Amino acid sequence: MKNDIEKCLFCGRCEHSCPMQAITIDRKTRKWTIDREKCVACGVCAENCPAKCLAMKEEWEEGEDKALVLTLTGKTPVRPARPAAKPAEAVKPAAEPPKAEPAKAVPATEPAKDVPQSENPHHVKNDIEKCLFCGRCEHSCPMQAITIDRKTRKWTIDREKCVACGVCAENCPAKCLAMKEEWEEGEDKALVLTLTGKAPVRPARPRPPVKKDEPHA
Ligand code: SF4
Ligand code: SF4
Ligand code: SF4
Repeated sequence: MKNDIEKCLFCGRCEHSCPMQAITIDRKTRKWTIDREKCVACGVCAENCPAKCLAMKEEWEEGEDKALVLTLTGKTPVRPARPAAKPAEAVKPAAEPPKAEPAKAVPATEPAKDVPQSENPHHVKNDIEKCLFCGRCEHSCPMQAITIDRKTRKWTIDREKCVACGVCAENCPAKCLAMKEEWEEGEDKALVLTLTGKAPVRPARPRPPVKKDEPHA
């Protein structure tokens, strides 16, 4: 088992899929460790690795580290730089005051103008009506691409950070996240997409029974 650690996302799929618990990862310190005494070379981790950085080898390569317990350190994730905001254009003085026009209704499905759009068809879709706002997707995402705000019931994905590894969808207990390879018609392709969930329904408390014989004040 060889790991091209430069490509590792520290998503944890190898750790969770290994039937021998031979792999451990530490996201904070970017350490990936394999205990070769436990490894049975089944290849399950390599099959599950979304970054394709794991490979099964039948021979040692020259200069390869043969340590029984091998720890590799990955690089810190690179946050893609956001496009710089366009400099504000000088406001031209209007020759005459513009005539007020009646406001036009914007169809709900029309994407907002000037919002950067994602060009990657591999994406995560959230059926937000089912979302529990449990935060498991936020905590499991190796790229910190998801943020949730329980108070305002907002779920946000930064598609610039998302590498479509599928870990969030695997961890979602409500099964409201799905990995998609194509955009669906009318889908919002915003690079940073925020969805608002519905307010949790609190079961109504049973009212105390009204005593009939009591005199009213
Ligand atoms: S599955 Fe691949 S990308 Fe994810 S932690 Fe393991 S080696 Fe890294
Ligand atoms: S949002 Fe989901 S699919 Fe995208 S990087 Fe995070 S865990 Fe992977
Ligand atoms: S894991 Fe699923 S249910 Fe939980 S916050 Fe994320 S999308 Fe919602």
